[in-house]
Amino acid sequence: MNLRTPGPTPIPQDVLDVLSGPMIDHRGAAFREIHGRVTRGLQRLFETQNDVLLLTASGTGGLEAAVVNTLSPGEPVLAVEIGAFGARLGRIAEVFGADVRWQHVEWGQAATPDSVAASLDDNPDVTAVLITHNETSTGVTNPLQGIAQVVKARDRLLIVDAVSSLGSLPCPVDDWGLDVVVTGSQKGWMVPPGVAMISLSPRAWAAVERASMPKFYFDLTQARSYADRGQTPWTPAIPIFYALDASLETLLHEGLPAIHERHRRAGERVRAAVKALGLSLFPTDEAFASNTVTAVKAPDGIAVADIRKAAAEQGVVLAGGQARLSDSIFRIGHLGYMPDEDLDEAVTVLGRALQEVGFAPAAASL
Ligand SMILES: *Cc1c(COP(=O)(O)O)cnc(C)c1O
Repeated sequence: MNLRTPGPTPIPQDVLDVLSGPMIDHRGAAFREIHGRVTRGLQRLFETQNDVLLLTASGTGGLEAAVVNTLSPGEPVLAVEIGAFGARLGRIAEVFGADVRWQHVEWGQAATPDSVAASLDDNPDVTAVLITHNETSTGVTNPLQGIAQVVKARDRLLIVDAVSSLGSLPCPVDDWGLDVVVTGSQKGWMVPPGVAMISLSPRAWAAVERASMPKFYFDLTQARSYADRGQTPWTPAIPIFYALDASLETLLHEGLPAIHERHRRAGERVRAAVKALGLSLFPTDEAFASNTVTAVKAPDGIAVADIRKAAAEQGVVLAGGQARLSDSIFRIGHLGYMPDEDLDEAVTVLGRALQEVGFAPAAASL
């Protein structure tokens, strides 16, 4: 199967191989070594000197950890929402009692630094900003560098869902001044689901000191004290650590400039091919179209479920739309392990699938 969902993503063979390694004592020397190597590798790819902690959870667990460790019930925060994942992050803060002020942006569009500045000026009491870097549900990447400048200039804590961007798209944590940054193993990291990674700046740790939301499994103060000893507080997903260790070696060898260029080219390649089929992209402005996932409008009168079913029968798994977009868009993941042939096959099969369900594509080749 050519798995073109924006997480989980395909796993290269050398990573698959290490997943079946024997279990080891997670309080022993062998695990400590892997833990140290993985942590240092992640710091390089996050481009940060900050602590990077490893949690056994999917990405959402990392988002919950970010919220409950840095905020308190009743605390006013700004949630910038451009799609389903932005809504999820703000919702987590609401569930744990934060006083969430929403900046809703029309789905398909990016938030702009000016609009975030205006929201902060309207809500001068907020202490933190919650934002998604790459909104996987709409295929839009926020201009995070400029937004971070606005947030930093106003001295607020910046909490970023970088689950589908870090390790794929440029997201230099220290250079951009990102306080709390979350990603997950099953996206561009080429690893199965199971581990969330989270970095915290000194400013974030100061917020941790004050934060009073309830937490147990995701207590990051505990996670940090165990990490100092090369351990995690609870039993970690050991096979995912093996896999991360192997994939980070590949990614570090490739280097960030090449990784970013590979994703930029993949995004361009898929968008061009989709447009050549006569389809329209969901993002309003292609300048903000994501280089890890392409969101495509389903042609009028054609059901997303039918397109996906016809593609799956030919070996290509496309993602549907999420939430209110479930009937109107579908998505093609292009992050992590993605040989050009696989991307080309995905679009060729998409063209055939569309024909089968009654749409006449403009051209069926790249
Ligand atoms: C995949 C993803 C998540 C996390 O989802 P999980 O299913 O919990 O791993 C969060 N945010 C974004 C932007 C994502 O793409």
